[in-house]
Amino acid sequence: MIQTKGYAVHDTSAKFEPFDFERRDVGPRDILIDIQYAGICHSDIHQAKGEWGNSTYPMVPGHEIVGNVTKVGNAVTKFKVGDIAGIGCFVDSCRECVNCKAGHEQACKVHCCWTYNGTEMDETTMTFGGYSSNYVIDEAYALKVDPTQDLKAVAPLLCAGITTYSPLRRFKVGPGSKVGIVGLGGLGHMGVKLAVSMGAAVTVFSTSPSKEADAKALGAQHFVVSRDADAMAAVAGTLDFILDTVSADHDVNAYLNLLGWEGTMVLVGLPTAPMPISAFSLIFGNHGLAGSGIGGIPETQEMLDYCAEHNITSDIELITPDQIETAYDRTVKSDVRYRFVIDMQNA
Ligand code: NAP
Ligand code: ZN
Ligand code: ZN
Repeated sequence: MIQTKGYAVHDTSAKFEPFDFERRDVGPRDILIDIQYAGICHSDIHQAKGEWGNSTYPMVPGHEIVGNVTKVGNAVTKFKVGDIAGIGCFVDSCRECVNCKAGHEQACKVHCCWTYNGTEMDETTMTFGGYSSNYVIDEAYALKVDPTQDLKAVAPLLCAGITTYSPLRRFKVGPGSKVGIVGLGGLGHMGVKLAVSMGAAVTVFSTSPSKEADAKALGAQHFVVSRDADAMAAVAGTLDFILDTVSADHDVNAYLNLLGWEGTMVLVGLPTAPMPISAFSLIFGNHGLAGSGIGGIPETQEMLDYCAEHNITSDIELITPDQIETAYDRTVKSDVRYRFVIDMQNA
């Protein structure tokens, strides 16, 4: 077994403590990754605090992982020692079902092995995430990372990047698209960068007036304070596509009314409470409302390659493991600019 040092929470109070555990030995198709950087996604916070009702403890969060490949099994073909590899939200799946075969492993009909707060294919062995020193993963579920990029700023692409890239592609955002991004946090700021790179005219909707200059610097053309009713009314019926990244309860009808004819709004934020939807907000204007969950391995690799080619990374604040709790508090207060990343190298 491989000895791993991590940081775990033991209950919903989300207090982090050093936690030693073991990972499986490197099998023929496995690679061992020495973790350099792990991003903090708001999903880590939801799960560490038990907000989704599915939490198992001890929990080592972290699903935005980048590190060095330090060992490869004898049947590995995609990686060699010294490569840089990434891990996103899941680490295995059945590989046989219709969704796995189509490259949508995150929707595996048998068992998707979440990177943490889940179990391996035996549905028994707990998985522990990236707030740790290393990970053993089947090469088929690891991503290739361009070693010339700023790796600490690449880590958030493994969740925030793919979660925003996938719906932008699915709904064919391109030159001239009028796109709204709701919530300027980790996902939101990646949504702005990616939509702008695809040629869209982006409007950011935010509860934080202090983020206007940042939104413009990220490439947004317009910034609307979502609590300003007049400013919201001024853009009613104007957008082709809206990506809602908000992590807390909020009124989605206010945004559906901003869509133009046959415009679509996609939810990626995961607040816990069910949300009331007005049929009028959907029906008048033939609007669509959809959801989107991360992305499969082929599309995640496509996104990483796209970001390398277009020189896109995340705007980050690098922290040490003793600062995780402070980072959680600041993220919950919408005070994140725009992703916290933990430096695991000297942990
Ligand atoms: P984040 O960095 O905390 O950003 C969320 C943003 O939402 C905040 O920065 C804030 O932006 C806005 N917000 C927060 N509270 C609000 C409120 N009460 N009303 C209105 N707006 C509010 O979080 P994240 O990491 O981007 O994740 C966002 C959500 O997506 C989380 O729920 C997470 O679990 C979920 N998620 C889903 C997927 C998926 O596959 N669908 C993947 C990853 C994460 P402003 O300051 O600009 O208002
Ligand atoms: Zn995430
Ligand atoms: Zn499957």
